[in-house]
Amino acid sequence: MTPRIQRPSKRRMLSLTVQAGEQTSPHFMTVTLGGDDVRHLQQTGFDQAGRLFFADPADGGDVFLPSSERWILQLTLQGGKRRPRVRTYTMRRFRPEESAFDIEVSLHEIGASGQASAPGTRWALAAVPGTKVSFLDEGHSYAPSASATWQLLAGDESALPAILAILETSPADLPATVFLEVPSPEDIRTDITMPPGSSINWLPRIDPGSKPGALTLDAVKQARLSDGPFYAWTAGESSMATGIRRHLVSERHVPKSDISFRGYFSHGRAGL
Ligand SMILES: Cc1cc2nc3c(=O)[nH]c(=O)nc-3n(C[C@H](O)[C@H](O)[C@H](O)COP(=O)(O)OP(=O)(O)OC[C@H]3O[C@@H](n4cnc5c(N)ncnc54)[C@H](O)[C@@H]3O)c2cc1C
Repeated sequence: MTPRIQRPSKRRMLSLTVQAGEQTSPHFMTVTLGGDDVRHLQQTGFDQAGRLFFADPADGGDVFLPSSERWILQLTLQGGKRRPRVRTYTMRRFRPEESAFDIEVSLHEIGASGQASAPGTRWALAAVPGTKVSFLDEGHSYAPSASATWQLLAGDESALPAILAILETSPADLPATVFLEVPSPEDIRTDITMPPGSSINWLPRIDPGSKPGALTLDAVKQARLSDGPFYAWTAGESSMATGIRRHLVSERHVPKSDISFRGYFSHGRAGL
C-alpha cells in the first residue's frame, strides 16, 4: 500500500509532556500533549498525524525518548530494554493558546480485569500530567481532487480522530458522506462540525468480537452514492482500506488518483 503523504518541509522531534487525559466514551481517551516545542509544529489540519514515542507502563525502567528526527539511529544505539514504544496518532485538535494539541486514542484489547494488552491503550489509560513523550510530525494524506463536487470519508475507530479533523478543516463547498464505524453505540459523537450538506452514517459494532472495518467496507459497497465526481479518503484496518479502494476502482470506476487510502493497523498484528 503506497499512500501519498504530504510531509512537512521542516520538522523536529518534539519533547512534550502529557497535560491532561480524559476518557470521553467507553472506547476513547483524549490525551492533551503540550510544551514549548509545540511552536515548531507546522499545523496543516486534516488527518495530520505523528509518531508518538512513549514508555510503556508494562516495560518499567528507564526508557530513552529520542530527541532527533534521526530516531531510528538513536534507538539502534540503545539497548533493547531502553527502547520506547512507537505508535502513530492523529493530531485531533490544536490548542495554540496553550502550546498543546489533543490526540484521541481508541481503547482496545482490554481484558476482563481491566488490564490492556496493547501498549498504546495501556499508555493512554495510565497517562498522567507530566508523563514525558517524544512526537514527530508525519504529515497528512488528505488531498481532494480539483474536480470533486463532494467527498466520501470512510473509516473505523482508529480513523475517527482523522475523519472528525478532516470534517472541521476541509473546504466548506465539499459536502461529505461519511461512514464511521465505532466499537459501541456509546462511542457515537453528536457535537460535530462539518461542511454544509454533509451526513454521517454511524456504524456501531453489535458483535464486540467482529473484525474492525468489516461493517464499513460492507456499508460502502451497499451505499447509494451521490452523482458527480467525488474524492474518497479512507483509513483504518488495512483490509478495509484496500477493500474500499478496490471496490471504488473496479465497481464504481473512480479514478485511482481521486482516492486516498491508508492502512492504520492490521487486524491481529501488533504495531512495531
Ligand atoms: C497515520 C495514522 C494515524 C493514526 N491515528 C490514530 C488515532 O488518532 N487514534 C488511534 O487510536 N489510532 C490511530 N492510528 C492507529 C494506531 O496507530 C494503531 O491502531 C496502533 O497499532 C495502536 O497501537 P496499540 O499499541 O494500541 O495496539 P497494537 O499493539 O499495535 O495492536 C495490538 C492488537 O490490537 C489490534 N489493534 C490495533 N489497533 C487497533 C484499533 N484501533 N482497534 C482495534 N484493534 C486494534 C491489532 O491488530 C493487534 O491485534 C493511526 C495510525 C496511522 C498510521
